[in-house]
Amino acid sequence: MNVADLLRVRPGSPVDLRSIDASGTPGLEGPREQEKAAAATLHQQNCDAMQSLQYLLWAERRQALLVVLQGMDTAGKDGTIRNVYGVLNPQGVRVTAFTQPTERELAHDFLWRVHRATPAHGQIVIFNRSHYEDVTVVRVQNLAPKEVWSKRYEHINAFERLLVDSGTSIIKIFLHIDRDEQKQRIESRLSDPTKSWKFAASDISERKHWDDYTDAYNDAISKCSTAHAPWFVVPANRKWYRNWAISTITRHTLEKMNPRTPAAKFEAGSIKVD
Ligand code: AMP
Ligand code: MG
Repeated sequence: MNVADLLRVRPGSPVDLRSIDASGTPGLEGPREQEKAAAATLHQQNCDAMQSLQYLLWAERRQALLVVLQGMDTAGKDGTIRNVYGVLNPQGVRVTAFTQPTERELAHDFLWRVHRATPAHGQIVIFNRSHYEDVTVVRVQNLAPKEVWSKRYEHINAFERLLVDSGTSIIKIFLHIDRDEQKQRIESRLSDPTKSWKFAASDISERKHWDDYTDAYNDAISKCSTAHAPWFVVPANRKWYRNWAISTITRHTLEKMNPRTPAAKFEAGSIKVD
């Protein structure tokens, strides 16, 4: 079975993150060192394939790809963007990071700022955080009442359906680390001077709400993993596994989209170049 099938959350089968091993390596179960080396080679092959497919997507200009990255603090969203999507041609890819909404954004519906950032045909867009913050941090921090955020799952499913019906494929990736791994990563932000710029006081305060975030993500992923816009829960304690799994899922999705170069708008041999 392809790793994309192994990690995809099936619609109607609720996910329980607490029962998924964040150090697991589904699809690569052989001797560790051997699998690690194989993953590096396969990841490189996936990157090459993604580059060729991106070229076709751009040439075709009829479809788009949206990749949503979510995860707890330190889960590896930035590292994923660097190691997986960094290989793409900058001309056809954009990364949008979502932080606390501005006053202007808050004066609109929660999808307003998100919709504007979606990819045009031919493009690949990576969301570093997304509209899923509006049913996770907003819920955990009580930034909106339950009557407001509880309706958002349906809004999200309808919104994503609209994007898919308009030619955009969507993959949503949850980078699944566990609490111990987060502790180590925060500690290395504190002790390694080259990483200290990444540390935010919120890394400590949000960590106290680990259980609430887990509940919020269980609900968001369970309610919004649809046939048209699936969620993938990627065990992400091991970065080599995470990179391979995500490049495989992305390659697989682009292959299914099957972009093709458009037919020439002239007859072969009909135009002479002096
Ligand atoms: P970082 O990704 O570390 O730069 O942090 C961005 C911060 O913005 C995180 O704490 C997010 O939870 C927060 N954030 C992103 N989107 C929203 C939102 N819609 N409402 C409230 N906070 C948000
Ligand atoms: Mg942060």
